[in-house]
Amino acid sequence: MSMPRIVILGAGLGGAIAAFEIKAAVGDKAEVSVVSQGDTFSFVPSNPWVAVHWRKRAAIEVKLPPVLKKRGVAFTGVGAKRVSPAENQLQLNDGTTVDYDYLVIATGPDLAFDEIAGLGPGAGFTQSICHIDHAEAAAAAFDKFVENPGPIVVGAVQGASCFGPAYEFAMILDTELKRRKIRDRVPMTFVTSEPYVGHLGLDGVGDTKGLLESEMRNRHIKWVTNAKVSRVEPGMMHVEEISDDGSVKTTHELPFAYSMMLPAFRGVDAVRGVEGLTNPRGFILVDKHQRNPTFPNVFALGVCVAIAPTGKTPVPVGVPKTGFMIESMVSAIAENLGALMDGKAAASEATWNAFCLADFGDGGVAFVAQPQIPPRNVNWSASGKWVHLAKVGFEKYFLGKIKRGESEPFYEKLALEVMGLRKIKG
Ligand code: FAD
Repeated sequence: MSMPRIVILGAGLGGAIAAFEIKAAVGDKAEVSVVSQGDTFSFVPSNPWVAVHWRKRAAIEVKLPPVLKKRGVAFTGVGAKRVSPAENQLQLNDGTTVDYDYLVIATGPDLAFDEIAGLGPGAGFTQSICHIDHAEAAAAAFDKFVENPGPIVVGAVQGASCFGPAYEFAMILDTELKRRKIRDRVPMTFVTSEPYVGHLGLDGVGDTKGLLESEMRNRHIKWVTNAKVSRVEPGMMHVEEISDDGSVKTTHELPFAYSMMLPAFRGVDAVRGVEGLTNPRGFILVDKHQRNPTFPNVFALGVCVAIAPTGKTPVPVGVPKTGFMIESMVSAIAENLGALMDGKAAASEATWNAFCLADFGDGGVAFVAQPQIPPRNVNWSASGKWVHLAKVGFEKYFLGKIKRGESEPFYEKLALEVMGLRKIKG
């Protein structure tokens, strides 16, 4: 009998560690392969640094084929055009197909810039830090901006779920502009769909509201919450501020010489609209074992997974999916596939906790939320210069692990160290 084939689709932050961890869990009992888009692993959390030249692209990328080969994992960077779970098959972009027995989807987000006129790089007028290519383009735009400074608008639009990087980038820009001694020429506004500063899609964690408001006040960054961006024109953002009852409270016309706005996320084309696999936004439906209910041989992890919002807000906001949570999904899937290879049931569950180090260049805010949705057992936040140092250290640590193809979970270790607690597992 031939060995079961496990295919991991996507080799970003979740998919890459999944490849190592799943291979370690199943050993020689299954063939493990990865289908990604391009050959490179890119450490997304460092993108805000790339956008102000604090990092070069080469420093945060790893060529995956040799590392995966060393671990006995096959690889193609051709990319999937469509997932056909009813046929247990992937159609790749080069016209070939890949058959699988188990599929692990880790395709991350599709960036929905097209939902707002004028949003995003390329066809629009705002920058992005969601992808390394965008971060490099944002750095080039920043170079032009500093020659002739003016107002900056930074934030996250309606339907966004990833707010931490928007705060990070606002504060990083503030730090960089101070270093260049031109901060006095740059009025800054933070525009967010969150109902309050520090909500983060999580209804706040510890005192993130107080900490982040205080940071913004100290840095002279104004803010608009409950914001819905209606359209962006060259140098001008049109924003509606929404009341609790859903009506328009007031409108803002915000001029900008530089803007970075995080878009809403949705599932990638290859999976969006596959009956039974995804929700209407194209996110993969999973049960508590990270398994799709319609196609139980399909697992999913990371940003591509469907998670319900924490509660109703005047402007829709999503729940962030950060590294700690993603890592717990990876571990659960690796354990479940290991069990299935041994003829046992898939019983492991991910912990879905949130942990974030938001770096501001000269300081930062850290938080741990367990579980994600309040009320919580752990609801911790803190700030200080050490957050910046911790994030720099973590980047080095994480990239080192990827380069060596090591599988052991790291986020939990870091969260424990950061909190100075010995045990936060429920
Ligand atoms: P990704 O890392 O985006 O990986 C998806 C992979 O799938 C990519 O390799 C892509 O090429 C591939 N892919 C997509 N479509 C296809 C296809 N059709 N066929 C084959 N391959 C495909 N979290 C934290 O915990 N800490 C942070 O500091 C942090 N900072 C962040 C900063 C930014 C700017 C952003 C956007 C997010 C940040 N996050 C952070 C959140 C989260 O950890 C990252 O978004 C993380 O990259 C998500 O991992 P992922 O594997 O789900 O998706």
